[in-house]
Amino acid sequence: MEECHLPITRHEMVRRQLRARGIVDPRVLNAMEKIPRERFVPPDSMDQAYADRALCIGCEQTISQPYIVALMTEALELDGGETVLEIGTGSGYQTAILAELAREVFSIERLAPLAEQSRKTLDELDYHNVTIRVGDGTLGWPERAPFARIIVTAMAAECPPALFAQLAEGGILVIPLGERESQTLEAIRKVEGRKHSTSIAGCRFVPLIGEQGWPP
Ligand code: SAH
Repeated sequence: MEECHLPITRHEMVRRQLRARGIVDPRVLNAMEKIPRERFVPPDSMDQAYADRALCIGCEQTISQPYIVALMTEALELDGGETVLEIGTGSGYQTAILAELAREVFSIERLAPLAEQSRKTLDELDYHNVTIRVGDGTLGWPERAPFARIIVTAMAAECPPALFAQLAEGGILVIPLGERESQTLEAIRKVEGRKHSTSIAGCRFVPLIGEQGWPP
């Protein structure tokens, strides 16, 4: 599939939506320059793959806007050696970026059809350092903890305690927190077992549904 058939090319997306808005981490920019986002969207919205917005991926869920993916990834400050836990695999696009930039990725998706589709796409693109599980990500993945980094791509009222407990000392957890209609992207660092939060930007995500999230 040639990206040059798309109305906005990947390169233009990186230049206009990421660099121009202040994304500077060269590893993040390179990963987003490399990964074919069109492979992670449904066939009928493929021409919108590099549009400046979220897109529907079925099951009432969305693939996040490219800029938000870049912002969250940059906030994780990955150097390549980390084990990362992702909650909300969705399309698997963010997962692919994490797989490029970290050593190993564990990703949990609540909805089996999305987990299956993203597993297929990631296999086709040869990402073998990703393990996907279907389940309630608000409880984390205790058998694999601790994680140097945790990213939650669905919104919660507060950080699920199980996830903060599974974050390694000195680690970073990125999560959208707030109310149903609007949230703030937060980067939470664990310092001597305590939370140190930094607000990154306003955002709007689908809800994190589970035992330590919203009710179904
Ligand atoms: N990063 C994904 C975002 C998908 S939207 C992408 O860009 O494609 C958020 C995803 O979180 C949805 O697929 C939704 O099903 C999933 N989700 C919601 N609550 C969850 C939970 N408790 N555990 C795991 N996944 C959850």
